[in-house]
Amino acid sequence: MGLTRVPGLLFGGDYNPEQWPEEVWQEDVRLMAEAGVNLVTVAVFSWSRIEPGPGAYEFGWLDRVLDLLHAHGIAVDLATATATPPPWLVRAHPEVRPVDAAGTRLEFGSRQGYCPSSPVFRAATVRLARAMAERYREHPALAMWHVSNEYADHTTECFCEESARDFRRWLTVRHRSLDGLNAAWGTSCWGQHYTDWAQVEPPRKAPGPVNPAQLLDWRRFSSDALLACFEAERAVLKEVTPDVPVTTNFMSVLRDLDYWAWAEGEDVVTDDAYPDPADPRAPVKAALSYDLMRSLKRQPWLLLESAPSAVSWRAVNVPKDPGVMRLHSLQALAHGSDGVMFFQWRQARYGPEKFHSAMLPHGGTGTRQWRETLALGADVRRLSEVAGSTTRAEVALLLDWDSWWGLEAPESMPTDRLRLHELLLSWYAPLHARGVAVDLAPPGRDLSGYRLVIAPNLYLCTAAHADALAAFPGQLVVGPFSGVVDAADQVHDGGAPGPLGELLGVRVEEWRPLPDGVAQEVVTADGTVLSARTWTEWLDASGAAEVLARYRGGPLDGRPAVTRRGSATYLSCLPEDPAPFLDELLATAGITGVTGPGLPAGVEACRRGPYLFLLNHGTEPATVPLPEGDRFTDLLTGRPLPAGAVTVGPCDAVVLKPRPTPEERA
Ligand SMILES: [Zn+2]
Repeated sequence: MGLTRVPGLLFGGDYNPEQWPEEVWQEDVRLMAEAGVNLVTVAVFSWSRIEPGPGAYEFGWLDRVLDLLHAHGIAVDLATATATPPPWLVRAHPEVRPVDAAGTRLEFGSRQGYCPSSPVFRAATVRLARAMAERYREHPALAMWHVSNEYADHTTECFCEESARDFRRWLTVRHRSLDGLNAAWGTSCWGQHYTDWAQVEPPRKAPGPVNPAQLLDWRRFSSDALLACFEAERAVLKEVTPDVPVTTNFMSVLRDLDYWAWAEGEDVVTDDAYPDPADPRAPVKAALSYDLMRSLKRQPWLLLESAPSAVSWRAVNVPKDPGVMRLHSLQALAHGSDGVMFFQWRQARYGPEKFHSAMLPHGGTGTRQWRETLALGADVRRLSEVAGSTTRAEVALLLDWDSWWGLEAPESMPTDRLRLHELLLSWYAPLHARGVAVDLAPPGRDLSGYRLVIAPNLYLCTAAHADALAAFPGQLVVGPFSGVVDAADQVHDGGAPGPLGELLGVRVEEWRPLPDGVAQEVVTADGTVLSARTWTEWLDASGAAEVLARYRGGPLDGRPAVTRRGSATYLSCLPEDPAPFLDELLATAGITGVTGPGLPAGVEACRRGPYLFLLNHGTEPATVPLPEGDRFTDLLTGRPLPAGAVTVGPCDAVVLKPRPTPEERA
């Protein structure tokens, strides 16, 4: 049994039958069966059709949809339908609509138009979730609950009066007293000392930079406020249908929500991933997202939405070339997804997503898109046995949302060029290119299962974080501008790297961010010359640290750039290519790529359980050496492969399953 009640890998997409006359539904289920669809997401935006007036439910159409799907062997990821409040609710209670930072209350007519802190909205969602759960608790098509949709896609925060009250309640819990708040927010700066809770407001649009500590708390609160919406619905679903898994679909590497906290309430982590076909780095960015999803609960997850071809919301929406949908889908499976799901099943004829691709396009079944949908469904069935298998990584990249929020505070940092997603990618990309499996982890987690832990940036670093890193026995790498502030965004006594100072054996005297286009040379102990951009530091390593590389030229000439104390390496700069350090660290930690060294450029290699996925994102055939002595069958073709190496065509993939040796067969 897989993630849901459906065995094997899942295949399907969002299904919006309310956009079509009922006679079309018959064709839908027939074609779904033909494509091998076994799960569809239903009712995501159906609130106004299920509850067209307060407490007046019209379930008949949805009953017929679920019955029809079940009759054709298709299970349902059933949404609670709360993603867009209906017109009657927002007209009766205008305060449900969110307010932006400039104080404008946003109009109805799009989606996700709600204030997360609105008691009216929360009560209405819980009422609807209960009605849905009670209606469909016994329905045999129900495989999973899908709470709301893509939290924080549009509404990440709300600045209304109700949200301000909720923010004050949240602050009272965190800081206990007004004195505590004044101290934590450093309100003695710029004359912001508060004498009454009622004076405290969300960080609305102000004449200049807002207090970064206030902003950090606001980001924490805003993530928590949306999480409270999810948890309120989840509690009802668990009460009525305790055995049905609950999810809400995440949005890849998203700054606004602390997914470590959110994942605790998810039975199944699901992700919506839309790598841009026009972006050469799309496969690497997608791989990072997928590894995050796998790491959130350290179990298989589900790609719940992806685009069969073009999306509709970028400035230029480039379609996927032939074969790319398949390759990107197989990539998600390689990184631990237990299925491939799309937005959406049938391409819409109206609305903002009418040009968004679908499994079944406007042109119908005589199209390349439909042929590729059918072929992919067949591939997914061939890989069915992969479901449930897990990945073991020896490398962890640290990701902490508090630190991310602090790092990217506007108008108060030494540079606005340090972006956490890019910092993660700067380490993730070379690991990915080497076929090294990577987990993401929060800094406070027990890291003892890893051999190499990399903190690309830990701007906000608490004593607990530092203790966890000091207790880690393997190779540790800490990137620049780390250990700068505490949990309240206040600079550690004595400056950076604060609580990491003892571990790293260095002291940072001065930040030296580089202007765009300016590079700083860095020379390693063996004479390799590297180029650093964006960031450098004036470092004092006169303590216990060994110097692995020094700056060359400019005011930092001869000063330490990269240091090591014991097994803890500190980089005070951002080398364009960290390969010299990375390769040495991997060798020291005894880590190799899943196919050993020598993975051709453009080829992605992932091991999942006993299966070895090789994906060629390049435009030329690539020959990949296979682990010595092993013999494999390609699950996608069923063909045994010759020992030693396999050639993977451009935009193609193989999924290798070890063949038992003659002794094992006997
Ligand atoms: Zn609000």
